[in-house]
Amino acid sequence: MAKKISAAKAAELEKEAQMQESMRLQEVDIIVENRLVALCALQTVDSQIDKIRIIRGELPLEVRDLEDEIAGLQTRISNLQSEISGAEKAVVDYKNAIEEHKELIKKYTKQQENVRNNREFESLNKEIEFQNLEIQLCERKIKDSIAKGKERHQQVEIAKNLLSTRQGDLDAKKVELEEITKETEIEEVALFEKSKELEQAIDERYLKAYKRIRLAARNGLAVVGVDRDACGGCFNKIPHQRQMEIKMHKKVIVCEHCGRILIDEDIREKSEERIR
Ligand SMILES: [Zn+2]
Repeated sequence: MAKKISAAKAAELEKEAQMQESMRLQEVDIIVENRLVALCALQTVDSQIDKIRIIRGELPLEVRDLEDEIAGLQTRISNLQSEISGAEKAVVDYKNAIEEHKELIKKYTKQQENVRNNREFESLNKEIEFQNLEIQLCERKIKDSIAKGKERHQQVEIAKNLLSTRQGDLDAKKVELEEITKETEIEEVALFEKSKELEQAIDERYLKAYKRIRLAARNGLAVVGVDRDACGGCFNKIPHQRQMEIKMHKKVIVCEHCGRILIDEDIREKSEERIR
């Protein structure tokens, strides 16, 4: 009798144990699934933050490049303008020099009227010849200086046009940067808060792994889907058996090539609900 009761009881206990085990396993499944959903949601939010930072990240750099270019053009224009003034001054100086040479010629010509001999006359003639050569040299230099001034004027015009274009570009970029900063600031703060909130739903071990993979990955992706039988992160093929395991949500499956956490569409859909 006792044996019979105990057998029935044993069967009952066995059944209960089985049920408990089954419930425990179901709970484990739910925990794993929730973990995957939270990881996927966190990835989506973090990727949105990355995107904002990338958009804004390039603009300040572009603004700085333009500012550097504008400063360079301003220096160039001011250098060209001092070269123009130098050329103008040279023209005046050479003109004055010509006058001086002419005065000397006048003086030597007058002296020739009072020479005592032919040698003195010839000597003065040589002086006059020399002054004439000097005048020719000055005239050539005046021509060169005028040509140089003209060339520099043209270069200033080109630089000024470029400067005004770049100034326009800079103004536009600055406005764009300001707008993006204003627009994204609120969004970014909200995403950041959401990210922190999602992080709290993930155990430290998985969160650490997630952050480590994300840091190492150039695109910041630690959680990826399976795309055409391949890992969405490194594009290596994923064996069929592993793809089945991913779909079962019974454990966290990582890509054996890149270590990224792999999820299926179902998890992705659930994660989208989670973000809302
Ligand atoms: Zn991979």
